[in-house]
Amino acid sequence: MRSELVESFSIFRRILGLTRPYWKHISASVVLTVFYSLLSGASIYLFIPLLDILFHPEKMSAGAPGDASLGLGSWFSGLKEDVIGAILAGSQSDALLRISIIIIVTFLLKNIFGYLQFFLMNYSEESIIRDLRNTIYRHIHSLPLGFFSNERTGDLISRVVSDVSVLNGGISAFFVTMMRQPLLIAVYLVLAFSLSWKLTLISLVVFPFTLAIIAWIALTLHRERGVTQERMADITAVLHETISGVKVVKAFGMEDFETRKFVNHTRAYLRSILRINRIKDISSPATEFLSVIAGSVIVWYGGILVLQESTLSASEFLGFLFIIFQIMPPIKELTNVANRIQEASAAAKRIFEIIDVEPSITTRSGAAALTDFSSSLEFRNVSFSYEGDQTVLTGISLSIAKGDVVALVGPSGAGKTTIVDLIPRFYDPSDGAILIDGQDLRDLDLKSLREKIGIVTQETILFNDTIRNNIAYGVAECPPDRVEAAARTANAHQFIANTRDGYETVIGERGVKLSGGERQRLALARAILKNPPILILDEATSALDTESELLVQEAIDRLMTGRTSVVIAHRLSTIQRASRIYVIERGRIVGAGTHTELIADKDGLYKKLYDLQFRA
Ligand code: ADP
Repeated sequence: MRSELVESFSIFRRILGLTRPYWKHISASVVLTVFYSLLSGASIYLFIPLLDILFHPEKMSAGAPGDASLGLGSWFSGLKEDVIGAILAGSQSDALLRISIIIIVTFLLKNIFGYLQFFLMNYSEESIIRDLRNTIYRHIHSLPLGFFSNERTGDLISRVVSDVSVLNGGISAFFVTMMRQPLLIAVYLVLAFSLSWKLTLISLVVFPFTLAIIAWIALTLHRERGVTQERMADITAVLHETISGVKVVKAFGMEDFETRKFVNHTRAYLRSILRINRIKDISSPATEFLSVIAGSVIVWYGGILVLQESTLSASEFLGFLFIIFQIMPPIKELTNVANRIQEASAAAKRIFEIIDVEPSITTRSGAAALTDFSSSLEFRNVSFSYEGDQTVLTGISLSIAKGDVVALVGPSGAGKTTIVDLIPRFYDPSDGAILIDGQDLRDLDLKSLREKIGIVTQETILFNDTIRNNIAYGVAECPPDRVEAAARTANAHQFIANTRDGYETVIGERGVKLSGGERQRLALARAILKNPPILILDEATSALDTESELLVQEAIDRLMTGRTSVVIAHRLSTIQRASRIYVIERGRIVGAGTHTELIADKDGLYKKLYDLQFRA
């Protein structure tokens, strides 16, 4: 309980921190709220002299109806008398006209202030939300690859989209409702006290009950909120996974299975949200019922004051009722706002969880930029395990001289991809070191390191953009002839020229409008344009048709020319061309040499793999 409070408080402070850039707007909004509340009080209070004009013309010349003996301070009573006296001066019709005009002006100003206040607050709130989304997005991109497991993607999207929206309601709830409603309540209370303190005290009997209800609901909801948002994240995760993998779902006839899974998630969400609403929805009827009890007591006791004791005039009593019933909506608003703030703080917690993940792979301070790759890339006794999992690589030592082609072969799951992922520091070794020209990768500027490395994987990632921008991805303001030259080298120019808008053709999301071979050639053109000295290549295992295969192979050969390449090999031509082949099995190097040397061992793993994978 205590730690929950501490946590809520720290979340609250961080949310306040987000509002800092907009403090001018927010302060102006708060000041306007004060004026709004005062004018709201005045606009209600004005009905008392109005009633007096209509029902008590005898009071007109006598001046104010105020009761200076109320003990609220002579200043306030004096002011009230002066103001009401001035309003009621002169003839009945003059006063009527005067009060009508004053009512119009009061309401006009009140609404103008109210509008400006909302406008400023909305501006601030929406801007804060935008800033927050941008911050999370920027932060997400600073996180290491290990953070982005497939299951996490949907959850991440849900936090950026849905949790941030929930927070949205909370900020305005805090600054608008939490400022405006208590102020309104205070203004109405002062007015009510000035009319009759006895009646006011009786009306206030309901307050403690209402507060108790609010507190109970807030506490009960605190935990439920997190659950609901997690259920929503589950839904988003399933959506993301099955929509992006819709082809597999269809191919395996899993539509019904996936739908059932989805239905289970939406049912869990429904349960959770209904639980919340059940609790939340009690607050309104309960507070209303309490108000009605209070209201009846007030009418009864007020009636006695007017009719029997004559300590209150009828118009004052009516005014009092007006005022006291104006207090109820702000109280109800406050119960709702407590809920919304609960919701927002649960969402904020989930958002801050992401923001608080430290980027573990970063450029350390004082790191040197890698200006050139001049001699070698070396793995020195490298071991690696994915977060908390078992060891995937053990004692990997290998050296690649500039200009060499090194091939990695081994059964699936041996650790080949993991080895190459360590070169651009997608992960850091758990033990040992990787050195480039004798310098530890961790002592180098990360951006300058990745600039020297080109990666072509089996899965070609294309963005929903023009062909030109996909090829020139990461190269700012690339001249058109360079893009074209790269496309020609990658054997892609021909098919690009045949598309409707040539280089300006927008490819669909994930490049679905292109064939497998075409997509690979675009990815190769992208690598060629980047022109990195080091190339990491994961050769495609899936077969293309012969013509496409030839075009892709030719493009790969051209790309490799003059570069240092590390290839996860699946093609005969690659292993024959490699200056050195490393055979990987269960995370260890179990053989190394040229093709001719390795094939000589008739019982070796290489020979087996060769017979299985390459010879055909
Ligand atoms: P290969 O490329 O040789 O097929 P990988 O390097 O992809 O092998 O995988 C090596 C081992 O590491 C496998 O057992 C695989 O299950 C595991 N692995 C791969 N990626 C991850 C990951 N992101 N988290 C945990 N384990 C992983």
